[in-house]
Amino acid sequence: MENVGKNFKNLMSKNDLDRQLGVLMETVLKDPEVYHFLKEHKDELTTEGIERSYSELYEFVQEKRKFGKNEKDRVAPGYRPQLIASQGGVAVQYIPTTDLLEKRKQMELKQRITAVDMPKDIREADLKDFEPTKTRQQAIQEALAFIENYIEKPKAFHKALYLQGPFGVGKTYLLGAIAHALAKNGYPSTLIHFPTFAVEMKNSIGNNTTASKIEEIKRTSILMIDDIGADSLSSWIRDDILGVILQHRMQEELPTFFSSNFSMKQLEEEHLRISQRGEDEPLKAKRIMERIKFLSKEIKMAGRNRRY
Ligand code: ADP
Ligand code: MG
Repeated sequence: MENVGKNFKNLMSKNDLDRQLGVLMETVLKDPEVYHFLKEHKDELTTEGIERSYSELYEFVQEKRKFGKNEKDRVAPGYRPQLIASQGGVAVQYIPTTDLLEKRKQMELKQRITAVDMPKDIREADLKDFEPTKTRQQAIQEALAFIENYIEKPKAFHKALYLQGPFGVGKTYLLGAIAHALAKNGYPSTLIHFPTFAVEMKNSIGNNTTASKIEEIKRTSILMIDDIGADSLSSWIRDDILGVILQHRMQEELPTFFSSNFSMKQLEEEHLRISQRGEDEPLKAKRIMERIKFLSKEIKMAGRNRRY
């Protein structure tokens, strides 16, 4: 190393580098990592190569100093600088830190969950944070069973869950947690807040996007319809939107979850059956309900309201 260092200093004076540069270089060469690197790679380095690499070595020392502290001011935040020998000289390579890799993994995970009109934090819902109180035991067991079965045979048909229970017991949270667990295993899902989705579908008529929106929801591999029954619905939403989506998902055997304040029986008799105009349409309600029953299994959730 001494030789490499000496040669380097000679080289600098030879090239008439000014004194200030010399001082800077002195600190760079004092850096233990630079020292060891030059020593370890002396066979691959040439004097000219090192001369060319002055700015790289300087950058390396500077970036290393800022690393973990002033991440925002750095050349590549989240990346650790590393020296490599290259064409007789030295180059700086930036290696992603485990921190960055973890952040990226979390991002990818979130991207597997499409949440339409859902609370922002729903993508972070995690089964491990789900308190398995007595009243939720069954729901969580069924959720775990679904996840296990789905991961084992993603192409086979799996009956999903129809989570039924009063406001605030954690139905939406559980749907989010299931989506999260599936995402961790690489499977994307789509969550829609049904009442808001219905309003959007009505608005989509004006800009001709109804068909493409339905197509997207029809085909998504795992669909979760949250809060079905929360708002009164028109026969158009019931038959031409919900009916069409569910018909397709039933035919293609695509997993479809539901959450509702209503039981299946109540949903059929008190919600689907009566149109917004007050017409009683028991057969139409029955048709929708048959599809829901084909796709999902009713699970009651009780317990305290977690919103307060
Ligand atoms: P529901 O959909 O049944 O009305 P939510 O899923 O919206 O109920 O849950 C109500 C509130 O309690 C939400 O703020 C939710 O984030 C929170 N919550 C529900 N279950 C859990 C849980 N297991 N751990 C932490 N927070 C939860
Ligand atoms: Mg909810």
